[in-house]
Amino acid sequence: MSPDTEQVAVRLTQQIEASGPVSVAEYMRVANTAYYGRADPLGAAGDFITAPEISQMFGEMVGIWLSDLWLRHRPVACYYVEIGPGRGTLGADALRTMRRLGWEPSVHFVENSPALRAKQVQAVPDATFHDNLETLPTDAPLFVVANEFFDALPIRQIVSTQGGWRERVVVQDGVSGFAAMPGACATEDLIPEQFRTAAMGSIYEICPEASSIMQQLSARLAKQGGVMLVIDYGYTQPALGDTLQAVQSHTYGDPFTNPGELDLTAHVDFFELSNCAQKCGLLVAGPGDQGAWLSGLGIDQRAQILAASNPDRAADITAARNRLVAPDAMGTLFKVLAAYPPDWPQPQGFGL
Ligand code: SAH
Repeated sequence: MSPDTEQVAVRLTQQIEASGPVSVAEYMRVANTAYYGRADPLGAAGDFITAPEISQMFGEMVGIWLSDLWLRHRPVACYYVEIGPGRGTLGADALRTMRRLGWEPSVHFVENSPALRAKQVQAVPDATFHDNLETLPTDAPLFVVANEFFDALPIRQIVSTQGGWRERVVVQDGVSGFAAMPGACATEDLIPEQFRTAAMGSIYEICPEASSIMQQLSARLAKQGGVMLVIDYGYTQPALGDTLQAVQSHTYGDPFTNPGELDLTAHVDFFELSNCAQKCGLLVAGPGDQGAWLSGLGIDQRAQILAASNPDRAADITAARNRLVAPDAMGTLFKVLAAYPPDWPQPQGFGL
């Protein structure tokens, strides 16, 4: 355990000793704030790799997709907004493509990790930073991108027990470890009707922070115009299942050991995100598969052009294209969702 991680474990232990078990959501929030705040976890040498870090083609397709909407709607002014921009690679690739297509919006990053902010400044030097959504500009449409952001937000887990549905909580287990168990709190009213009689041990997940962020952004788009693009792994219909996972050095670990040292994620509930957008009066395109979306936007043509001008890297470019698009890689696991006001053009890439 690193000294930083030890501190996180000590803090959680003190919290549990003082006021009893913490919810899975509270545990995940403390662990991930420490994890992202500490260092840059991305890339081949880090813990996990994201689509923009696999290939520049991913950010370029995002740039093309945004540009198509901009060209068809032509707002007088607008902003490029990214939530959880990682190393800033996606932003840099998308913005380069957008500049080539004739527009250069000012850039706003919502990021709470000091370590990653430092990387983002290098990639996109003129970005303005925000701790949360509240300070984003209000005077023009927002073109919002969130790639692999929502999966990092804390989830609550509700577990079916003999005594009904209970909040899953985290207790201390051994010297440095923790363990999850059903808590005392009854939470039946959070479970959709169709799941109430599910087998003992079933888990239902909710992510209040994801819903809140989606609602806040949707309300902004309904008022000031713009579009939001969400890409992540997740499910498109209400579902049961424990999707909490921990990753370190590209290998799965125990989510309840060494908090702050492993990346904790959960699958994103796209059904809920769509509902949040629609409740604010937005239209929704998707969720569709990442593979189909990238193919529809021309990633194959882009891969051919890149390979032709970099013959020594042709095999790597094909491999990256396959990783992003193939059904047995990221192509179907990752979903793409767009939300936009009714008076904005229909976005491309969803087979509309
Ligand atoms: N979009 C990037 C990085 C994904 S990792 C990519 O595709 O490569 C998740 C990102 O979300 C990191 O930048 C992390 O610091 C940020 N993040 C996580 N929780 C956050 C929160 N509550 N507020 C703002 N940023 C957050």
